[in-house]
Amino acid sequence: MERIVVLGAGFAGLWAAIGAARKLDELGVGPDRVEVTLVDRSPWHSIRVRNYEADLAETRVPLDDVLGPIGVKRLEAEVTGIDFTNRRVAYSGPDAPSLLPYDRLVFALGSRLARPSIPGLDMHAFDVDTYDAGCRLNAHVAALPARAPSPGQWTALIIGGGLTGVEVATEMPGKLRAALGDAPGTPRVIIADRQPWIGSDMGEEARAVIDEALTALGIETRPGVSVAAIDHDGAVFSTGERVAAATIVWCAGMQAHPLTARFLVERDRFGRVPVDPFLKVKGMPAEFAAGDVAWFPIDGSHSCVMSCQHGRPIGRFAGHNVVCDLLGLPMLPLKIDWYTTILDLGPWGAVCTEGWDRRVATTGAAAKRTKETINRQRIYPPRSGDRREIFEAAAPVVQAPPAFFR
Ligand SMILES: Cc1cc2nc3c(=O)[nH]c(=O)nc-3n(C[C@H](O)[C@H](O)[C@H](O)COP(=O)(O)OP(=O)(O)OC[C@H]3O[C@@H](n4cnc5c(N)ncnc54)[C@H](O)[C@@H]3O)c2cc1C
Repeated sequence: MERIVVLGAGFAGLWAAIGAARKLDELGVGPDRVEVTLVDRSPWHSIRVRNYEADLAETRVPLDDVLGPIGVKRLEAEVTGIDFTNRRVAYSGPDAPSLLPYDRLVFALGSRLARPSIPGLDMHAFDVDTYDAGCRLNAHVAALPARAPSPGQWTALIIGGGLTGVEVATEMPGKLRAALGDAPGTPRVIIADRQPWIGSDMGEEARAVIDEALTALGIETRPGVSVAAIDHDGAVFSTGERVAAATIVWCAGMQAHPLTARFLVERDRFGRVPVDPFLKVKGMPAEFAAGDVAWFPIDGSHSCVMSCQHGRPIGRFAGHNVVCDLLGLPMLPLKIDWYTTILDLGPWGAVCTEGWDRRVATTGAAAKRTKETINRQRIYPPRSGDRREIFEAAAPVVQAPPAFFR
């Protein structure tokens, strides 16, 4: 029996595991000949892109609901290392540290928020990188009324004006108002970034829309500053300005999983390993990489982006190709020639852009409908338990871009 092991059950890994099972099923190859195992520390598939929302109840899907009907084995364990020479994954599970052999590997352990060594950051700043972190932030905000009154009790400072920071900031006035209820106090939200503008990743056209939304929601901006220190009651900027804030959310910078350092390849500035269009790690015989840990020119010239937009198709193709590679069949190259960005702007709406030059396509309520369709439907795996439906969703095809509500 041969083993395909997929590490990580996020947008890339889950779809790689389903894609591999789909291809094996199509070929009539049973688990007695090739077994697929998915390893994750959590029993959930987290819809990580929703972690900034006020209610996270619907943002996790039990992995067994998806993997059970298609015969993929699940191992709940912390991956601690990979021995490429002997083709074994080291993990610590509920029992003892152990080794899992593989014939083909799909490495999809994702990314994590970079946390530079700013005094007080680790101890006092919240984030929305994981489901647990998002829950911690929401519980903290809900508990603000119980905190001893202080100048920054109802102030939230969001550090990092990229896409995640803007989504956290535009959701925050509503979260603070809900916590405040009828009690006296005025919610204040500030978003800071060392770039000269907020929403730097979105391009000039969309930045004007973001500014309009931030102004409409009463959110203050502090572009062009970096944070020097954080404490229990607030933060100090590089300019010397001190902001009293009981809630500080760190949203600046993503890095690929640290185990990418074990691959014998040159990584890019995000720590990602280079793969070919078949998603196989360059120069490695049995290892594929997918999602935020991998990079290649996805349309032939632009590098893929750390995103679920790219992670899901990369996962589907990696799953298909890992089976083909193992069984000596031709693999399928992945090429996606469209790119969109859809940024939530809280109760103001959203902004959708098209193309790598990020031309604004829709804004406001129409864009928000598009965002909700993507975040609440399009990117979820089927939850019906229907084997055929699950397999069909993992076919190695490039989906059409999301339809924009105009
Ligand atoms: C708040 C927020 C908003 C976002 N918004 C968008 C958006 O609007 N659009 C978009 O396209 N992208 C967005 N992203 C980015 C997107 O979420 C990521 O690009 C995507 O999750 C990457 O998928 P992945 O499968 O590579 O990694 P992940 O989704 O991070 O999955 C990695 C998996 O590996 C597991 N894992 C990690 N380390 C270990 C270990 N050592 N042992 C065992 N298991 C482990 C984790 O539990 C996880 O299940 C957003 C991200 C955040 C945080």
